[in-house]
Amino acid sequence: MQALMMNSQLMISSILKHAEKAFPTQEIVSVTVDNPLHRYTYKDFGARSRKLANALTTLGAKFGDRIGTLAWNDYRHLELYYAVSGSGMVCHTINPKLFPEQVAYIINHAEDKFIFVDVLVFPLIEALKDHLKKVEKIIVMTSPAAMPETSMDNVVCYETLLEAENDSFEWPEFDENTASGMCYTSGTTGNPKGVVYSHRSTILHALVGALPDSTGARAEEVCMPIVPMFHVNAWGVPYASIMVGSKLVMPGPKLADGETLHKLIEGEQVTYSSGVPTIWMALLDYLNKTGKRVNSLKTAGTGGAACPIGIIETFNKKYGTTVKQGWGMTEMSPLGTIYSPTAEMADYTQEQLIGLQAKQGRCVFGVELKIVDEDNNELPWDGVAFGALKVRGPWIASGYYGMSQTPGDNDCPVDSDGWLNTGDVAMIHPNGFMQITDRTKDVIKTGGEWVSSIDIENAAASHTDIAEAAAIGRYHPKWTERPLLIAIKQPGANIDKDALMAFLKDKLHKWAVPDDVVFVEELPHTATGKLNKLALREKFKDYEFPAA
Ligand code: ADP
Repeated sequence: MQALMMNSQLMISSILKHAEKAFPTQEIVSVTVDNPLHRYTYKDFGARSRKLANALTTLGAKFGDRIGTLAWNDYRHLELYYAVSGSGMVCHTINPKLFPEQVAYIINHAEDKFIFVDVLVFPLIEALKDHLKKVEKIIVMTSPAAMPETSMDNVVCYETLLEAENDSFEWPEFDENTASGMCYTSGTTGNPKGVVYSHRSTILHALVGALPDSTGARAEEVCMPIVPMFHVNAWGVPYASIMVGSKLVMPGPKLADGETLHKLIEGEQVTYSSGVPTIWMALLDYLNKTGKRVNSLKTAGTGGAACPIGIIETFNKKYGTTVKQGWGMTEMSPLGTIYSPTAEMADYTQEQLIGLQAKQGRCVFGVELKIVDEDNNELPWDGVAFGALKVRGPWIASGYYGMSQTPGDNDCPVDSDGWLNTGDVAMIHPNGFMQITDRTKDVIKTGGEWVSSIDIENAAASHTDIAEAAAIGRYHPKWTERPLLIAIKQPGANIDKDALMAFLKDKLHKWAVPDDVVFVEELPHTATGKLNKLALREKFKDYEFPAA
């Protein structure tokens, strides 16, 4: 028997239509190059997004065209999210911090028709102009006064474009499985691969992402996504928070600038914010140096890389902010798991809760998890067994753009059992909390043991004299591989190798204690702010452990 319910398609434009009617006066505050504190309402946002949809039609965009963006977190980028997807095109966000040749590869592979570019990123487009064969127009996201000088003849000003349009536009309804967005994975090995989101996957992800135990997005909250809008749609925040009517604060290009982030948090009374751990390090460093506080900030969402326990502790103990760690991937839209305590944990001590926050959290509804051994046998959730982590669900990629869609094929992320192989190694505790122990390629295999590089890094970073640490496996004649720790000291700290090793002996299994420590001034990070282990392995490729 068929149900008797309206079969409305899940459309991204429906978020905008709802939000501007239900919360017309709610604010969106942005930092941009042409205005350090731009402020407008959801009503203005709706009207300008409709103008932009008309402008896209005027420019000649057709249903299904890919429209690239190279931009920071601000209101114009938000307008693109809604106008492009809402009118049936694909909003293809590109990370401007990638190597120029990767940016060119991504734009050409996706066959982007137009590129919308932030004025700060425009020099990158000028440098690449001869390589972008299919791009018809470049639209610089600024006002006429701030337009850069250029010899290119296909460059248009965003505000001039909008000026010429009216704000009436009927958002079309079409199949909810239509592509709405694209994001290429950073591609630490091989070329970047295109993940293609749909209207349906985006809406379902936003609904679950907004739940109280996910981000807890609400109309009362003031939300500042620091995670870039080119990195998995800023983790879906621009959809979930607008769906529920939160005030949004967008830090523009100032994503790692402690002073600006503090000013925005205090000035706009931000209650929830999300970013990778390196962002939180920058903010905490600024607060520590200036003695300033972030009293309104109830929750700091983090993910993308394991969050050092020092960040969780400082936020909890010094500032009363709860760190909510989540885990996911570009291929997962990205939400997979998140910190969610239950009533039975009400009498946990602060230390116990901090211990839980340092794990990756429980899977949210919609995401199935399993861990398997090398023969693909499922392992128990006992907090002891660990193995390859696999996932499936309605906002998880079934394949990459232009590559094989057949499960089990080499270039398809889905294995022949129908589950996406995350490339992570994890254990799952009996209480449902998942703990990433490593990425498959970063696990240190010493003798017969598997050592988690993340465990070593967390142990080292819990020393007050250590600012950041990375552990990699290096060749050892007896054990095949042994851990090498590479660390940055806190400014002014004079800890030495022996003192750090002695500290680690108390924290780690005997075989996990690194054989050597090298202090450095800087550690390499990827374009999304993660430790770049590949670069470290390359840098230390000729390293030899001291003779015992
Ligand atoms: P890329 O794979 O290109 O770096 P993603 O942002 O998709 O880009 O990275 C996903 C990976 O990041 C996960 O597979 C996992 O290894 C890591 N990751 C994400 N969140 C966490 C977390 N909370 N703790 C540890 N690792 C994480």
